[in-house]
Amino acid sequence: MSESRQGLILINTGPGKGKTTAALGVGLRAVGLGMRVLMLQFLKGSWHYGELDGVAAFGENFVLKQLGRGFVKIGGAETDPEDIRMVEAAWDEARAAILSGDWDIVILDEINYAISYGMLDPARVVETLLARPDMLHVILTGRNAHPSLVEIADTVTEMREVKHAYQKGILAQRGIEY
Ligand code: ATP
Ligand code: MG
Repeated sequence: MSESRQGLILINTGPGKGKTTAALGVGLRAVGLGMRVLMLQFLKGSWHYGELDGVAAFGENFVLKQLGRGFVKIGGAETDPEDIRMVEAAWDEARAAILSGDWDIVILDEINYAISYGMLDPARVVETLLARPDMLHVILTGRNAHPSLVEIADTVTEMREVKHAYQKGILAQRGIEY
């Protein structure tokens, strides 16, 4: 293992399950090393995910905030201006956190959806990521990662769906999906 430290950009994308939970796993690992981790969840807000309380147990070293309201209606004229406003506010908070120097890892959960739905300009994200503090790691999650983000990322993982319980009609399970 190399001793040299540098901030990385990681992307968890693809249609298979595990993008958000893998990012939470990195957060768990890092907070155990005394690192400061912030996860900002774009678009999420209506469901109460177990990680909200799990992360709270770590106090100010692992902070998780939901910055959306869930169930986003998408597609051109149908996009609700309120959702666009919330993504804009979420991005302002994310950008400030990235540039603040207050964190070792910033996780932008579901940001890829906000971008692929046309609610956030990927060029703004690229510009901020390139201007981040040298040691800061940033993890972006969500399907359909934008090519310009994949381009600047160091580690990109595409989750592939082999099968999912949902296809058998099994509804979301506590502790597994939320
Ligand atoms: P997780 O939060 O479980 O790591 P994820 O971040 O990879 O999932 P998202 O695209 O954010 O997946 O979707 C959120 C919800 O959809 C989660 O409840 C997740 O379990 C579920 N989900 C993820 N992949 C699939 C799939 N291939 N089929 C059906 N449901 C899925
Ligand atoms: Mg997710």
